[in-house]
Amino acid sequence: MTMTTKTSKDAAKFSEKLPSCVLCHAIRDIRAKKKAKRFKRLWPSFSYQNFRVEKELSKDGGAVWKASFPTLEKRIGVPIVVQSYQEKYLEMLLSGQAKQGSAKLVRHGRDWYILLSLTISVEEKQGKKIMGVDLGLIDLLVASVNGQTLFFSGKGLAYTRRHYAELRHRLQKAGAYRALVRLGDKEHRWVTDVNHKISKALIDFAIAHGVTKIRLEDLTGARWTNPQRKEQRKDHGRSLHYWPYYQLRKFIEYKAALAGIQVELVNPDLTTLTCSRCGEVRRSRPKGRWFKCPRCKKIKHIDVNAADNVAQAVSGLAA
Ligand SMILES: [Zn+2]
Repeated sequence: MTMTTKTSKDAAKFSEKLPSCVLCHAIRDIRAKKKAKRFKRLWPSFSYQNFRVEKELSKDGGAVWKASFPTLEKRIGVPIVVQSYQEKYLEMLLSGQAKQGSAKLVRHGRDWYILLSLTISVEEKQGKKIMGVDLGLIDLLVASVNGQTLFFSGKGLAYTRRHYAELRHRLQKAGAYRALVRLGDKEHRWVTDVNHKISKALIDFAIAHGVTKIRLEDLTGARWTNPQRKEQRKDHGRSLHYWPYYQLRKFIEYKAALAGIQVELVNPDLTTLTCSRCGEVRRSRPKGRWFKCPRCKKIKHIDVNAADNVAQAVSGLAA
């Protein structure tokens, strides 16, 4: 069953296979994109009335998840692969705790995926316990709340990035275009997976310490991977400074939202130069691993000091 549509004419051809309600959606999507010069594909989408997720019990007691949607001949129920972290949300959908939005059927390679949007109402956590998260100079990420810290060193990540960079370089030399695309996909999946793991650990840590608000540095403008930048081109993926923070931030934001934790972005300007204990501002960036305060003599790990400054929003909130 192919349901890929490229133009509204194509979409009309599918009237043989798809019921009009689904087709309307596809055509509406095309009309909305009329001004775009070209678009690759349009996937069939279903409104919440047409699409259903069902759960059946198999003979051995396990759960079989199915997606049920109409085709012109009949309504069909297709078994779907559900990851354990997704099950929680589908259970919420079945119990009525989550509201279903539209669903889209999308093919990637040989596999078909369902993109399903859900609306979940979450009670916001009460209280005032703020965790600061610093995208560190030494470590990839450091979180700090009331003297409790969580470090992600990123050492193994730098190694894997170098490995990918070397492979990419060799394939480029050989002009192996398709292999390059495959490598790019693989690296992207790896990065996404790492960002999921980091954000999950971070939110688990926040929940365990009763955090009600997370403050993050707004560094997306400064260090988000930008292929136009000279340093980026020279970097060849060697430095952690070009880790895709924007994606990581988005993951942290939605996982925090699901846990009822607020997220605020802060201005990063003085976070590495300020003493988080007495507020003294140093003129130059401290060298090495430790922040030594010239006034109150406090010595702190440089990234923890910065994370505590982020928690206090010493340079104010991001505009
Ligand atoms: Zn001080």
